[in-house]
Amino acid sequence: MKVFIACLGTETNTFSSMPTGLQTFEDTMLFHGDATRHPASAFSLPLHVWRTATEERQGQVVESLAAFAQPAGLTVRSVYEGFRDEILEDLGAAMPVDIVLLSMHGAMTAEGYEDCEGDLLARVRGIVGPDAIVGGELDLHCSITPKMIENADALVVFKEYPHIDVGERAAELFDICLAAHRGDAKPIMAVHDCRMVGMWRTPVEPVRGLVEDMQATEGSDGILSVSFAHGFPWQDVPETSARMLVIADGDAGLAAETARAFGQRIWDLREETGQDTVTIDEALDLIEAGPGPVVVADVADNAGGGAPSDSTFLLSRALERGATGLLSGYYWDPVAVRFCEEAGEGATLRLRVGGKCGPDSGDPVDLTVTVNRILEGASQSFGEATMGMGTAVWLSTEAGIDLILTSTRTQVFHPNGMTRLGIDLAGYKGIAVKSTQHFYAGFAPVASRIEYIACQGAIPPDFATIPYERFKAPYWPRVENPHKD
Ligand SMILES: [Zn+2]
Repeated sequence: MKVFIACLGTETNTFSSMPTGLQTFEDTMLFHGDATRHPASAFSLPLHVWRTATEERQGQVVESLAAFAQPAGLTVRSVYEGFRDEILEDLGAAMPVDIVLLSMHGAMTAEGYEDCEGDLLARVRGIVGPDAIVGGELDLHCSITPKMIENADALVVFKEYPHIDVGERAAELFDICLAAHRGDAKPIMAVHDCRMVGMWRTPVEPVRGLVEDMQATEGSDGILSVSFAHGFPWQDVPETSARMLVIADGDAGLAAETARAFGQRIWDLREETGQDTVTIDEALDLIEAGPGPVVVADVADNAGGGAPSDSTFLLSRALERGATGLLSGYYWDPVAVRFCEEAGEGATLRLRVGGKCGPDSGDPVDLTVTVNRILEGASQSFGEATMGMGTAVWLSTEAGIDLILTSTRTQVFHPNGMTRLGIDLAGYKGIAVKSTQHFYAGFAPVASRIEYIACQGAIPPDFATIPYERFKAPYWPRVENPHKD
């Protein structure tokens, strides 16, 4: 058995003006065939799982590209084509192969390619022909397109948000594809369009129960896999809305009916799964009231959704109010990091922070700061994986607010990105994290409470008003009942 593995992905915010070019992939993850010889990151972890699973069965692995970029705007055409063609050339050279397994995001758009995953899968199918098994693992913030379904035998989507189940889903996809290769299963996929745009947090009810029921349905009565593809609200494509994806064993009707039934459940929960958010002032009031640390998420500036991660709306308001005991990060500000490095640890200097990337970043803030700590090669955990932060700087401001700056754009995944700088989180009344939900697993144990802020930024959580052009179908919450007619 010969198994071909590769990774190519990013989550594209088609509204963002920040280009996704070669440097963004280099900063995030880029390996040419040897990712599994390095520690796993969130998007190379499936390759590690697939290599181990194949080799345990005395199979042969052919490993190709592993490239992933921190979300931003459209991927540069030549960069996408270059990566894609590298995978296709490696695949052509490896033929004949029995199974192709791809780790992708599912919401990648490049210049000239609205549906990169569909394009890649179609070209892979063109090389391997109809008999090889083609499987893909996708982030749950994906847009499931007809082209993806047509060209893959099995697509398995993360179930957890935060994404703590990347390895488990990789193993499940492997098992389904192996069974298909051996003739023990005949995966058939069906998709149900939920006609909803939103964010669903899986650690808490009522979504928790839905995820558990999806898992309980798998593996019996002919159902191989049940995925809820939440969709990525800021990828403006014809298939932006959330979808249920079911793989049944040889039974298209069963797959379709199961997808419809789970789709009905998420629809029925729509009022309960809506966003509970607070304003900046409400968040600052809660922090002041204590006890700390209150963790507040600046969801509109989450780099993981293609936001710049240098917005100052929250910081400016906290400064205006004279808030103290607040730690806020990560501000992507390589220029300010550079100045801190020049000045050195212990230095006090005047520093212009944030507000540099565009109108969604707000205005830069001028502060007098003391450099507490500079850490080159900083990193944080994300599930089982390690995510780089570049150089991280911990600052105290004269005003009584501490900031963390990074030279690499990243959201906040885990408290250890902060504690590795020598920061004692228990000493703060409030911790403001630029993240939507991935921070949750790590911060819940240290937080007195967790709140999500609705404020200005690149990706404000107001799904009814996103100015779509390519996504034309009616959806909730923009219309009351998009299923009518
Ligand atoms: Zn995601």
